[in-house]
Amino acid sequence: MGNVSERLIAYHEARAKGGVGLTIIEIMGIHPSGPGPLLAYNPALDESYPRMMDRLHSPGMKVFQQLWHAGHNAFPSDGGAPWSASDIPGLMSNVAPIPMTKAMIDEIIEAYVTAARNLERWGGDGVEIHAAHGYLPAQFLSRNSNKREDDYGGPFENRARFLVEVMAAVRASVSRNFAVGVRISPDGIPNGIDIDELARTALLLESKGLADFFNVSLGNYQSLRRVVGGMHEPMGYELETSVPITRQLKTPTIVVGRFRTLEEADQIIRSGDCDMVCINRATIADPDLVNKTMAGHPEQVRPCIGCNQGCVGKELGGILGCAVNAGAGAEQYFGDHLLKPADEPKRVLVIGGGPAGMEAARTAALRGHRVVLAEAQPHLGGAINLAAMGPTRAGMRDVTVWLEQEIYRLGVEVRLSTYMDVDEVAAEGADAVIVATGAAPRMDGIQVSNPGEPITGMDQAHVVSSNGLFEGEVRDLGKTAVVFDDLGHYEGIATAEYLLSKGLDVTYVSRHVSFAPRTEWILMAEAALVRMDRGHFQQRLRSRGIAIGKDSVTIAPVYAPPNSNVSETVPADTVVVISANRPNRDLFDALVARGLNVQVIGDSNAARFLSFATREGHKAGAAV
Ligand code: ADP
Repeated sequence: MGNVSERLIAYHEARAKGGVGLTIIEIMGIHPSGPGPLLAYNPALDESYPRMMDRLHSPGMKVFQQLWHAGHNAFPSDGGAPWSASDIPGLMSNVAPIPMTKAMIDEIIEAYVTAARNLERWGGDGVEIHAAHGYLPAQFLSRNSNKREDDYGGPFENRARFLVEVMAAVRASVSRNFAVGVRISPDGIPNGIDIDELARTALLLESKGLADFFNVSLGNYQSLRRVVGGMHEPMGYELETSVPITRQLKTPTIVVGRFRTLEEADQIIRSGDCDMVCINRATIADPDLVNKTMAGHPEQVRPCIGCNQGCVGKELGGILGCAVNAGAGAEQYFGDHLLKPADEPKRVLVIGGGPAGMEAARTAALRGHRVVLAEAQPHLGGAINLAAMGPTRAGMRDVTVWLEQEIYRLGVEVRLSTYMDVDEVAAEGADAVIVATGAAPRMDGIQVSNPGEPITGMDQAHVVSSNGLFEGEVRDLGKTAVVFDDLGHYEGIATAEYLLSKGLDVTYVSRHVSFAPRTEWILMAEAALVRMDRGHFQQRLRSRGIAIGKDSVTIAPVYAPPNSNVSETVPADTVVVISANRPNRDLFDALVARGLNVQVIGDSNAARFLSFATREGHKAGAAV
């Protein structure tokens, strides 16, 4: 627990080799009253941290370590009670924390000092005190969480005292050429840390010579959706709140906020808004972002699409991954950097030009195979083309456009408008076949909450899947719609928002206990509700469909027995039913029966999400 893992080293090493000059490793816990994926007081770090530094320094990367105390926003690693400035509960723990005594404050300051000293001893290049996002130093700064009446509460100078003391103690305990910086953020909530007060805090630290850099972010747990803005936020969406602070400072400043290219970073720096730009998600998506760009090929950089699914949402099994980069977080096992040229170039036939098929074709071609990709549609992209039709979702296509560009660059023979049946596949005589034929909506009315009671009335022209809706199957959408969402992922949001954008009143009905819960941790559920809650949108949660009529549907709570009197009728000229799609595995099964060398990947294996399509596509191309 709390130790450096080989996985962590391999992740950062890939970015170091990819040209990243400086990284800030996130959230090292400094004291048992807070948690942390790395714990500064873990004696095992004496050996592992220097080992990590050697590996990361060798390609030329500098490393700062973020020092973190979550205060009331997380449960302590020692199983005790959270500590904070006052007894205001944190949103994540919902426990009234212990208001820190002077002795506790001193103990924490000492813990920051010990951690910083250790990091210098371990070969690190600097530390960043995490005073942003509502963590302990921010809990002292904000009136919302600091109700103290002693020297650490009340007027601004007192609320800033804890951070000033931490920075002063740390600065005094390490060498001058070991960087000590601070991450700060306006929290964007009423009575919280506003831009003016945060600028004053930064100027105070600057006037005392206590910070070598200021890293300005945005938000806290009450405004979490803004901390890691998804594809609905534009590039540089935090500049509006960070630049008023960075412009006042002479000390080097860093800004962050959905930057994806060196060109974007360059423009912001040239404009004088800051001195450095943090690019995180885009380097998860492509560890070689810097090297590819510096080599004159920015178009070869695999784009981050801001879906937050693999990274923030940890959709691939609860650990960091990436929806577009199969190797992210798995650098020890797979990824472009581990691809080996094929011993013997084979003729590989890929069927299906969605993300899974294109990733398989790309990976196989990178290894020197001769690849043919057949796609039934006149264009590539598969299901992403429909997903990208939802409002704010056009950016989904960045990755399929990139895949398309790469497979052409690598010489894959692409055959569009080419539907392949089993005989045609067999006639190709390929050495290996990869089936990536996607999935199809079920439309059988089955809801997993009440599997024995399918929705009746499915067989009507105004009842469609989300695919059907986006493909324009319903000519006249009418004025009202119901979206049945059995999945709870983004598809339900995209569908509801699309119908709202067409001027309909929309009722979202779901068996789930919250709105689109699988988008909660990609930080998109609330952001969507903010956009949609304009009087034309309602939700019925913990609910299911009973029957679909001509212009209305009958719904009931999932727990209500059939024919109970708690059902409700909701107007619906259009009904969209979203449930787990059925894989198109028939072709694969038939090819197996013919004895061909064949693999099945992506949605045609089991219909899931982009992260899975990418990973399976990559693995298939790497294995063939
Ligand atoms: P995934 O996300 O797993 O890549 P998609 O649904 O996005 O799946 O893509 C599957 C693609 O396969 C679609 O573009 C579809 O048109 C294509 N496809 C399905 N069956 C065939 C087939 N028999 N021959 C050629 N292309 C096919």
